[in-house]
Amino acid sequence: EIMKKSSKQETVKVIVRCRPLSSQEIANGHSKSLDAFKFRLRRFETLIVHMRPQRGQIELKNPKEQDEPTKDFTFDAIYDENSTQSDLYEETFRDLVDSVLNGYNATIFAYGQTGTGKTHTMEGKSNDSEQRGVIYKCIDHIFEHMAASHNQEYLVRASYLEIYQEELRDLLEAESSKKLEIKERPDGGVYVKDLTSKLTRSVAEIQEVMVRGNAHRSVGRTNMNEHSSRSHAIFIITVECSRIGADGESHITVGRLNLVDLAGSERQSKTGATGERFKEATKINLSLSALGNVISALVDAKSAHIPYRDSKLTRLLQDSLGGNSKTVMVACIGPASYNFEETLGTLRYANRAKNI
Ligand code: ADP
Ligand code: MG
Repeated sequence: EIMKKSSKQETVKVIVRCRPLSSQEIANGHSKSLDAFKFRLRRFETLIVHMRPQRGQIELKNPKEQDEPTKDFTFDAIYDENSTQSDLYEETFRDLVDSVLNGYNATIFAYGQTGTGKTHTMEGKSNDSEQRGVIYKCIDHIFEHMAASHNQEYLVRASYLEIYQEELRDLLEAESSKKLEIKERPDGGVYVKDLTSKLTRSVAEIQEVMVRGNAHRSVGRTNMNEHSSRSHAIFIITVECSRIGADGESHITVGRLNLVDLAGSERQSKTGATGERFKEATKINLSLSALGNVISALVDAKSAHIPYRDSKLTRLLQDSLGGNSKTVMVACIGPASYNFEETLGTLRYANRAKNI
């Protein structure tokens, strides 16, 4: 847990993405110009254009308290409602995938209230080239890179699991009700015992793995949306590369990419949950706050202890958060005024994770 302090900041990026108003919201009378809740999106010019993504500020106005000063935040980048999947990929995600191809670990999180675009950002829609999310783009990128490279051999594997109520389930197993355990290796690293790791040889094969996992995710669920808002889905792509070095020996590097669609961050207390729902809510809150604590400890150069052990999610990802690993958290928000409290909550969470 000791790392080069100078590089800490650069390895974690927190960005915000605001989705457009939905047709339902427009039908309900929300519009950008009429809405009391207006926020301005600004982009700052950067000095080292090729090294750092655009820094963005966001100002929130409380629609119910007109006299209240705006709440201002700064993030590594802001993506407004006109941003495309490609904008995010080219500016923010591509770099992570390159580092995975070079043998490092990387993680992308989508955080936010249910309905703000987490799944849209991570997965999107496969059948529409404009809507393909980061998972599809990563897969294309990885296989294109492999096809274009010489003197190197690659093995690409995929795993897919979910964390629900602090329990891990393998989404590639038919018997996916079995609970998986996180184990420690002698070198201090972690792995998930018995987790399926599927060798995939093409874009089609790995996409199929994802689709199959999604199908298992919803098995036995009466309301898929409801379930997905209460569990974390983690799609893991492992890229193993062997190249012949100058010494004539083959050298193997392994990079891992974790693509995490987090449980909805909406405050569960508001819904007055009781019983099972209350238990769910407590566990979601626990793991999201544990994640926030880990990320802020990674960003904070003074922090020596990273509390990975506080949740299954952070424990599972501990090899991929910190050190030479790159992390991007995408905080997803909605633009309508009735979302003010949740949007503020999301920005505060994201800002606490990385206070720029
Ligand atoms: P979440 O996973 O956070 O619950 P979704 O990704 O399912 O939210 O998004 C909710 C709805 O909004 C979906 O119909 C999705 O297609 C749409 N949506 C989300 N973000 C965008 C965006 N940036 N552009 C267009 N539609 C979006
Ligand atoms: Mg979703």
